[in-house]
Amino acid sequence: MREFASAFYHSQAWLRCRESYLKSKHYVCERCGGLAKIVHHKVYLTPGNIDDPTITLNWDNLEALCQDCHNAEHMCSQPICADGLKFDTNGNLVQTPRVCKWSARSDDRPGP
Ligand SMILES: [Zn+2]
Ligand SMILES: [Zn+2]
Repeated sequence: MREFASAFYHSQAWLRCRESYLKSKHYVCERCGGLAKIVHHKVYLTPGNIDDPTITLNWDNLEALCQDCHNAEHMCSQPICADGLKFDTNGNLVQTPRVCKWSARSDDRPGP
């Protein structure tokens, strides 16, 4: 967790917002249908918007995600993962083993 956001993530306002958002989604990951444990901010929190409740506490900016999808989201925001390719140590373009789960197995949802 980023330093600037730690006070926010411990605030009552956020904890309450997060809890009711997860409940509204029935703790179901919005991408893979797994168990949602994390409420992700679609617009990432920055020192510049951390005090703006229209970003931090806006349900339109929230997404209920499981641990895997949340990890993937933050890794896939890096360009190298975006098309699943990277350069190996010899400078050859190779397919990365890590693909975005929700796009790779959209019809392979675990039960509720
Ligand atoms: Zn998921
Ligand atoms: Zn996130």
